[in-house]
Amino acid sequence: MIEVSQFSSQQLIHLEDQYGAHNYHPIPVVLTKGKGVHVWDVEGKRYFDFLSAYSAVNQGHCHPRIIQALVDQASQLTLTSRAFHNDRLGPYEELICQYFGYDKVLPMNTGVEAVETAIKLIRKWGYLVKGIPSNQAKIVFAAKNFHGRTLGAISASTDPTATEGFGPFIPGYIVIPFNDKEALANALEDEQVAGVLMEPIQGEAGVVVPDEDYLPYVADLCKQRNVLYAADEVQTGIARTGKLLCTHHYNIRPDILILGKALSGGVLPVSAVLADDAIMLNLKPGQHGSTFGGNPLAAAVAVEALKVVEDENLAENAERMGSIFRSRMLELSKKSELIQKVRGKGLLNAVVINEDPKSSRAWNICLKMAENGLLAKPTQGNIIRFAPPLIINENQMDSCCSIIEKTFKEFER
Ligand code: PLP
Repeated sequence: MIEVSQFSSQQLIHLEDQYGAHNYHPIPVVLTKGKGVHVWDVEGKRYFDFLSAYSAVNQGHCHPRIIQALVDQASQLTLTSRAFHNDRLGPYEELICQYFGYDKVLPMNTGVEAVETAIKLIRKWGYLVKGIPSNQAKIVFAAKNFHGRTLGAISASTDPTATEGFGPFIPGYIVIPFNDKEALANALEDEQVAGVLMEPIQGEAGVVVPDEDYLPYVADLCKQRNVLYAADEVQTGIARTGKLLCTHHYNIRPDILILGKALSGGVLPVSAVLADDAIMLNLKPGQHGSTFGGNPLAAAVAVEALKVVEDENLAENAERMGSIFRSRMLELSKKSELIQKVRGKGLLNAVVINEDPKSSRAWNICLKMAENGLLAKPTQGNIIRFAPPLIINENQMDSCCSIIEKTFKEFER
């Protein structure tokens, strides 16, 4: 076997192109190492990572405590399946339930599996508790959502790239505009609605933040109509938006909480669905599961990943660094014709480029930022998301804002 580092970036990109499916269009850098807020490419160039693997690396790349937990557990026991108990699962389940304030957790692996789990849980509750007639349950989603790539998730999608050529889709879905109270009130008139499943801030849609009173309205109306409110916090959760959960900004508690990504600090796929007994205990043995869900390696890693978030006050840091970032970008937007809008919460932010989504301007800005030492990627064509690891400090944030300002200046000329 040849060592990967013996290849150049160009050669490695060519290999991926030749042998890998073409279902992604990455920024052309090839990374080989990560530490904290930095990543390095195979030629040794260092970058600030302003994507954090779509908010999976909130604790920073290769956090020493999380890696130590991984290594210690990897040499002890990695997988038993749920056919047997393992000694790491119970303590992890206790910790995560107490951490987020729920009776029970159902461990899965990827974010989309947790979303699928929530969909099944909502339906089961709808039939067993709400009394919806068999096969009639409906779930309300928001337009422009992103919940992952399985059929269960894309059946709710309004993005043609995600859906075209993949039908037929799962029935029983109602899709309403996000941040539209009247549309929600109309949808919940239907007695067969069992749940509402939404992201608190729509990440992939371009960090779309709803009005302050929207989510409290959603949670309230769900309660009034005997409908479960499920929050997909796969991207917004675990301190990303400046609080432990994004829903905490609005003082609301979802009936079902969906987590993934940073639950492992980006070390391996770990996701979870949390709910109270009256909801979760409707699932009986054999009705749902996964070979890898709740494995001891994931449990050990997730425990450490959650402790790091608390011990290093990452929510507070995200809040503070996020406001520095947004004020610098707002200043920049006053000088730059290229910036239409700056928005976000904590360290989940976006700059909307004043161009048609089909133009390649945002992509070219990202290429130039990479050249200048900062990695970010456009979403929806003309929106650049800026989401660094939450461990970023003030000096680093200052350097990063300078790189972004310099890059925009280069485009003004
Ligand atoms: N839900 C949200 C809000 C997401 O942002 C994502 C991924 O970006 C997912 C679900 C799917 O997670 P995964 O890619 O781990 O399946």
